[in-house]
This record gives sequence, structure tokens and C-alpha cells, in this order.
Amino acid sequence: MQCNKSKPINDHLLRSWIRCRRKAWLDIYGDKQKKLWTAHSTLQLNHQIDCFHNLSQKSYGIGIQACEEGKNIAYGLRIKYPLIKNRIIQANLPILRKTSGESIWGNFAYQPVLARQGKKITREHKLTLAMTGLLINNLQKFQVKKGLILHKENEVIKVEKIRLSDNINTDLIDSLLNLEKDIESRTPPPITSNRKKCTICSWRKNCDAVAIKKGSLSEVSGIGAKRELLLNKIGINNIEELAKVKHYKLKEKLEVFGTQHGDISKKIILQSQSQSTNRAIKLTPEIELNNLKKAKGFYIYDIESDPDIKHDFLHGFIRLPKNIKNEISLEKTKYSPLLNLEKNTENFLWKRITKKLSLNPDYPIIHYGETEPLSLLKLGLRQGADPHEIEELKKRFIDIHLLIREYWCLPVRNYGLKSIAEWIGFEWKQSNVDGARALLWWRQWKKSRKINKMYSRNLSSIFEYNRDDCIATIMITNWLINH
Ligand code: SF4
Repeated sequence: MQCNKSKPINDHLLRSWIRCRRKAWLDIYGDKQKKLWTAHSTLQLNHQIDCFHNLSQKSYGIGIQACEEGKNIAYGLRIKYPLIKNRIIQANLPILRKTSGESIWGNFAYQPVLARQGKKITREHKLTLAMTGLLINNLQKFQVKKGLILHKENEVIKVEKIRLSDNINTDLIDSLLNLEKDIESRTPPPITSNRKKCTICSWRKNCDAVAIKKGSLSEVSGIGAKRELLLNKIGINNIEELAKVKHYKLKEKLEVFGTQHGDISKKIILQSQSQSTNRAIKLTPEIELNNLKKAKGFYIYDIESDPDIKHDFLHGFIRLPKNIKNEISLEKTKYSPLLNLEKNTENFLWKRITKKLSLNPDYPIIHYGETEPLSLLKLGLRQGADPHEIEELKKRFIDIHLLIREYWCLPVRNYGLKSIAEWIGFEWKQSNVDGARALLWWRQWKKSRKINKMYSRNLSSIFEYNRDDCIATIMITNWLINH
């Protein structure tokens, strides 16, 4: 493979590199056919459009001409400059805002603006802002001291001013030099040890295959970046080696770094054994699941949310009027999607949910993970439900995720609903769907609804995805009982 000495570095590549060094390398040299589409970049783009729309002013223009004319907002600038030796750095700036200063165009200057998703300002936001700041400074021959970061909180756009300090700029230049080194290498940087990042990365298929082939420790559920380093320190470098080690020996060695590492030694050995031999290992010989086995029927419950505005927009239920040990006819299961269009319609939603659940008050409510009971109980409290009602509801929840973790080591990299259900053999009807995709459909549907008021395809796709999540939960429960 030819290394790339001439390709300009752009803001997109810098962002990739900050997330994961390997990602930046793959963005240049990876086989694009193997890249997965993820909803995250579209969500980010839509969010950016919403935020920038809020900055709109009457006086605006496009490109460098807008700056020359001193417009308040300049859209769509493309700037390049060798911020590091022999390497062009370029950025596509969707928007710049006029501020005070003395630029080549007059007694004003322009400052960089970016939109962020997520709860916090990260290094990625700061360095991207610093990069566009340095490029603008060079163009306008004036140093702006601050950039703006916009984000949406509960439908309100907030503006934060970020000081473009010498420290941030030094960090940026160091990062650009290291990024350059990485993309000049003929081999990709290693797979990140923080594999949580990979779940939303478009290269995950490629990296999963490499990690499995190598037997990387980061593949083992329960081993994060820190623990992998500790295991390397005591001479364990892959899954096979971990699977063979004696529990008491590993415990002794890991306890030197803290009792919590020693405590988990048995679990990670069993997990690596399960993954390396591809078999399920039971952690407790006698598993009592009487509340599941004896129930005459169930409700299965799954929520879809918009985390940016803390809004659970869909509460999906399946009512299964029979014991789960029996054969389940999926065609006959009745799925009820209860939509919560706006946060202020919760009162109506709570009534509908309680009415539904009171049809069979003796049915447990099964769910996967802690989100569902937390959200529903909070909703009840907000609607003034009496403490007895809340207590009774609490008793009905059964978390299948907790039970699986308590009783089994399964040959999967993580214990998310998707991994476990797929391992059991369940397939979602729609390919490459996840919570982010459902969120994107939801936001698109909300926008289109105002125009054509139609029950659009986006909404039925969300229902289908949510229904499949509920069915996946039934399948795992059924597996748990039968094994
Ligand atoms: S899948 Fe993970 S290791 Fe691979 S490029 Fe993406 S973040 Fe990096």
C-alpha cells in the first residue's frame, strides 16, 4: 500500500483521528465497500442545520465574498493553509459569525462556529474549533480569541463561547503532527482498546473481523482499555492465554492493582473460555426462574427515546397471553405502539399505559435493561400516581438482561439485546437498524408530519424495529427458561 504524503488533512479526518487513530487511517486507505452506513452522521448533520438555522440573520452571504462585504454571517467557506510543515490543512466551514476585530476586510473579523451533539464539550469539539480558528486567523490576518459552540437542549439552542487558548492550539498542532505520522504509515494503527467507541463506527465490521482473528483481549466482555493493559503487564496478551490461566493465579496477580481487578478474575476467565470455545457456560447449576415459569402471560415492553431532549417517544408493548414455555406464534402476538408525540402529552400516555397494564394485573412486565422501569416509574411519579400503585408496578418488572448476566457466560462480545438475540438466532426484519436509526426516522417523521400529516413509512419502520426489539426480548426469555 502506498502511503499518502500529499493528501491534505481536513477537519473530517481530524475528527476521525481524535475518535480513533485507526479510523482516520481507514478513512483514507480502507475498502469503502466494507464501510457500514450509520445514522449518526445524518443525525449530526440534521442537528447542525437546526442549530445554525438559529443563528440566521438578515445580513448573510456565501463564501469569501460575504466576508469582504462584512455580512453578519458567512456560509460555505473552504479554507486551506499549511498549518504544519509541508502539509495542507483544509476545512469546510459551514458557517462563520462576524465579531469585533481588525481584519483585512475592515474593522471586524470572523469567528468559527460549530454545532455539537452529546452532553459535554469534548476534545474533538475543542480541537476542531481551534483548527478552523487558526485557518480563519490566517485568512483574515487577525487573531480571534473565541469560537462558538451551539447545541440543542430541550428544543432550545444554547451558545457557548470557547476560548481558543495557546494550550488548545498547541494540542492541535501536536495532534496534526501525530495524525500525519499515522497516515504516512503503511500499516493501520491498532484497534482501539476502548471498544465502546466501535459500536457507532462505520468500520466496525472490518475491525471486528481483525480483532476476532487476533483473539484480542478487548473482544472479551468485561475487559476495557485499562484492564487489557493490566493483563498485558502480567503477560496475558490474547483470549486463548486468558482462557487457560488458573483463577487463583490470575486473582493473585491482578489484586496487586486493586481488589476490584482480582474480584473479576473468575468472570473474565469464564468469559474468555466461552468466547474461545463458542459455547454457553452456566454460572449457577440450579436456576430458579419461578416468576417467569409460572406466569400465565406477559407484557413485553421496550422504549425508543430521543436522548437530546430526554423524550421517550415510543412505548412499545406486546401482550403474550400464555406461558412462555409454550411455543410462541409470532404472527399472532399483538403489538401495541403507544406514541408520545410531545413531552406535554404525557398525561394521556400514562392513562393509556396503566389501562393496558391493568387488563392483566398478574402478568409480569419483561424488558431488557434498566431503561424501561426507570422511565415508566418516573412518568408515573410525574403524573401523581399514588405510592402503592408505583410499588405494585415496580414488583412486576423482570429485567432479562440482569438474569442473563447473573446466570450465563455467553460467547458474545457484549450483552446488549442485539448481540444476545442474534447469537440465539433471531434476526431483525430490517437490516442495519439500531436506536440511532430509529431516532433518525422519528425526527424525519416529525418534520414531514407537519407537511403531509401522513402515517408515513418512517413511522412504520420505527414500529417494526421496536416490535422486533420486543420479540427479541421474548426469544431471550424463552431461551433462558429452556436452558
Ligand atoms: S471500529 Fe473501532 S477500532 Fe475500528 S476504526 Fe472504528 S473505532 Fe477504531
